[in-house]
Amino acid sequence: MSSRTRGLLFIVSAPSGAGKTTLVEHLVQILPNLRMSRSYTSRPARDGERDGVDYNFVSRDEFQDMVRAGAFLEWADVFGHCYGTAAEDTERLVAAGQDVVLVIDVQGARQVKAHGVDHTAIFVLPPSYEVLERRLRGRSKDSEEQMQTRLATARAEASSYDDYDYVVVNDQLEPTVVRLQEIIAAERSRTHRMRSIAEEIIKSFRH
Ligand code: 5GP
Repeated sequence: MSSRTRGLLFIVSAPSGAGKTTLVEHLVQILPNLRMSRSYTSRPARDGERDGVDYNFVSRDEFQDMVRAGAFLEWADVFGHCYGTAAEDTERLVAAGQDVVLVIDVQGARQVKAHGVDHTAIFVLPPSYEVLERRLRGRSKDSEEQMQTRLATARAEASSYDDYDYVVVNDQLEPTVVRLQEIIAAERSRTHRMRSIAEEIIKSFRH
């Protein structure tokens, strides 16, 4: 299949509490050609979460079977639960010309890069550590011990921003969604991705 018809693969990572899921949910509503990939997880569903919608919820054994079968493009253990992106799901969408966004942690992003899969990686930072802590405490039912683990992980993850192609600071929802749209538009316009369209246009110059 030509590079013109394949969709693009985007990765969005951020320390937890930076607001990446809300950003991407808004983004996919605005951009009809962009789909959020549905991950597999061994974590139990939270109130209001639906199997096959928010995640594919599986048992730890089922998850391990998928790992052994090489089903994952990437997977990671995050806060004691397994999360992974099925290679087949992503490939099917991208092959059909759909752009796909993976909302995954920094370990998963490293694996996609290591596999040499063509992608664009975007890191979302909160405006400050204080803002992140306030957001996390505001929405969480975690114990203080769990909260300290999340905050320590967030601090460690934030310093991974330098491994990514783009960094956006999530100060306000709407302007940040616009910046993400601009990144996607810029990536679609890269010369190597526009080559077959450009060549068609150039042909029309020749008569
Ligand atoms: P939560 O349990 O709050 O939904 O997600 C916890 C963390 O797991 C978040 O940082 C989220 O980005 C990450 N995550 C969700 N799905 C995947 C996945 O498929 N792969 C990886 N590596 N991380 C994921």
